[in-house]
Amino acid sequence: MSVSVAFLGLGAIGTPMARHLAIPEFSLAVWNRTAAKAQAFAAAHQARAAASPADAVRGASFVVTCLPTSKAVETLLDGPDGLLAGLAAGTLVVDCTSGDPATSQRIAARLAERGIGFIDAPVSGGVIGAENGKLTIMVGGDAALLARAMPVLKAMGEKIVHCGAVGAGDALKAVNNAMLAVHIWSVAEGLLALSRAGVKPEVALDVINASSGRSNSSMNLFPERVLTRAFPRTFRLALLDKDVMIAAQVARDEKVPSPLIQMTAELFRAAHQALGEEADHVEAVKYLEQMAGGEIS
Ligand code: NDP
Repeated sequence: MSVSVAFLGLGAIGTPMARHLAIPEFSLAVWNRTAAKAQAFAAAHQARAAASPADAVRGASFVVTCLPTSKAVETLLDGPDGLLAGLAAGTLVVDCTSGDPATSQRIAARLAERGIGFIDAPVSGGVIGAENGKLTIMVGGDAALLARAMPVLKAMGEKIVHCGAVGAGDALKAVNNAMLAVHIWSVAEGLLALSRAGVKPEVALDVINASSGRSNSSMNLFPERVLTRAFPRTFRLALLDKDVMIAAQVARDEKVPSPLIQMTAELFRAAHQALGEEADHVEAVKYLEQMAGGEIS
């Protein structure tokens, strides 16, 4: 008998994740705020388009959410069409949102009052990793709940890591993405300075990528997206801004000196404001180029 699963949030990464759950082992219901996306998904896959969050989760053993923020997940709980109207005791909510620990802990506590489990399970690996089912999934919450969720997580991801209590996955994801932001910004500053000093960016990256300054940004993002000026839209700058803000908050909450993360949060907030909601995260480079009055070339 197939296991009943609901997936809420068919965005850039949610859609390819949900595709891995549209298999005979699972009976899948999908819900999306813009209903047309859920209907298109259901027409193309073995899935039912649900009319509301409550409708999607009714009777489900597992509920996977993948929304921009934990606050968006929390807002979905209440109301006649909300998650709590459809969820039953014994269901497990797997929140793949890159969320914030405090809100995840609040959601977990509210669900626990009704005997509903919750784990935070943000992902890394990008849209390509989601398409290939090769995501890394970092989990916060009870180990027994993680063990129960494993068949669902394994369908979407390759490396599944238990990070600690509820919120630990969110915290780790935010710090990882703060480091991504630092790398993007530092490579951009370095290549701009070098191009003014007469070193071509291709030459600079050739050396850096064989040396100790290399990173995923220098090895992949800059050659594929910046030097080509392609800047494909795969992960919105607005979401990276949110992630760095969460990391900055975690560092402040823990009273850890964190000038670099705090400054990076400011820079990415400013870049997000300047470039808008649809800009890709790598386009933060364009914000620095505007300040510098020239492109990396
Ligand atoms: P998108 O912006 O592409 O999609 C967001 C999804 O959430 C859409 O389905 C949107 O619905 C829905 N949504 C937005 N606001 C609300 C709301 N208030 N209530 C209900 N639904 C809402 O985001 P991604 O898919 O890229 O990202 C989802 C999560 O995954 C984020 O937390 C992100 O940080 C994380 N992530 C993304 C990666 C990527 O490469 N894209 C990589 C790793 C993590 P609608 O269709 O109506 O707009």
